[in-house]
Amino acid sequence: MFGERLRELKERGTLRSIRDRCTPQGRTIEIDGRTLLNFASNDYLGLSDHPAVKRAVTAAVEQYGAGSGASRLLSGGTALHRRLEARISDLKGTEAAVLFNSGYAANTGAVPALAGPDSVIFSDELNHASLIDGCRLSKAEVFIYRHRDVGHLADLMGRRGKRKAVIVTDSVFSMDGDIAPLAELMEAASVHEALLYIDDAHGTGVLGSGRGVLSHLGLSPQPFVIQMGTLSKALGSYGAFIAASEDTVGWLINTARTLIYSTALPAHVIAASIEAVEMILTDRSLIARLWNNRDLLAGGLASIGIKTPSETPIIPLIVGDDRRALEASRFLAGRGIYAPAIRRPAVKVPRIRFTVSALHQEEDIQRLLEALKEARDCGLL
Ligand SMILES: *Cc1c(COP(=O)(O)O)cnc(C)c1O
Repeated sequence: MFGERLRELKERGTLRSIRDRCTPQGRTIEIDGRTLLNFASNDYLGLSDHPAVKRAVTAAVEQYGAGSGASRLLSGGTALHRRLEARISDLKGTEAAVLFNSGYAANTGAVPALAGPDSVIFSDELNHASLIDGCRLSKAEVFIYRHRDVGHLADLMGRRGKRKAVIVTDSVFSMDGDIAPLAELMEAASVHEALLYIDDAHGTGVLGSGRGVLSHLGLSPQPFVIQMGTLSKALGSYGAFIAASEDTVGWLINTARTLIYSTALPAHVIAASIEAVEMILTDRSLIARLWNNRDLLAGGLASIGIKTPSETPIIPLIVGDDRRALEASRFLAGRGIYAPAIRRPAVKVPRIRFTVSALHQEEDIQRLLEALKEARDCGLL
């Protein structure tokens, strides 16, 4: 029944398969028996395999066991959950914070809790799929504004009538690596008495000394701003959070279905996140190394005439065609570099996406640049 459709995907160059590694997420990874330089991990600071993090995990397993056994609203939470929420509200400068089981669960749970059938949502056209799904589940009317186009958003605001409004946006766009115009979006939300929901999955631990996009842009949290973030990327762990006012967090605890009807994160995962937050705040060299590597790659690309919209450690090379993106990725694998092709429907315009990490060495970035020069000279880019 699905065989024919799978064949169609294959012909179009959009058939996907799962590739598993045999090593920790690191500077290199071993896939299918080959060791490759890893430019495909969101573990920006190398914390998922950090000895101090692993020690914290082991200690928490000894104290609390493996699974959490119930939803947070029953008996699933521990003192570690509470401590992490307190650390996150400090980090984000908010009154309160609450954990979710993943970024996907946060967005699909919180957006429908904040907007209902009698609300309107304004959503950037390049928002993450989990935000798109959250918007759909809310049953609100959704207006999609052009990427980072605050003027277009203002035009669409006119169609709101008297309905409650939520503006939703990625902070760092996960496939382009550019940053949302949050000063303008905050201003628009304030003027129009709307909520502003920011998905800071790729900003947390990366921007603003680790505090995220608001700190990076010199903006202060406001009661109408809701900051979502993940623990699964720069924090090297798993899970997500929403940091907001006391009342907003209380409302989410009472209405977000992905929080209420799902088993809590296990304590050892929480322990990893707590250790990661401490390390980011105390060891400035982690984020400094990440940005050095990022600037090295971005500068190197510019010097060989390859353009990218990136402002962050997410660096896409637009290839424009699914098959060519796949070819370019295979070419790089042949040179010992792992950077997967991102194809439709995950993106409208196919590309290779590199993520830089603090673990990369200068020679790794040089090797990537050499390979890209070669790929360009063969007409692959
Ligand atoms: C990764 C990501 C998510 C999903 O987070 P998970 O913890 O992986 O479920 C949500 N939003 C954005 C922008 C992301 O990049």
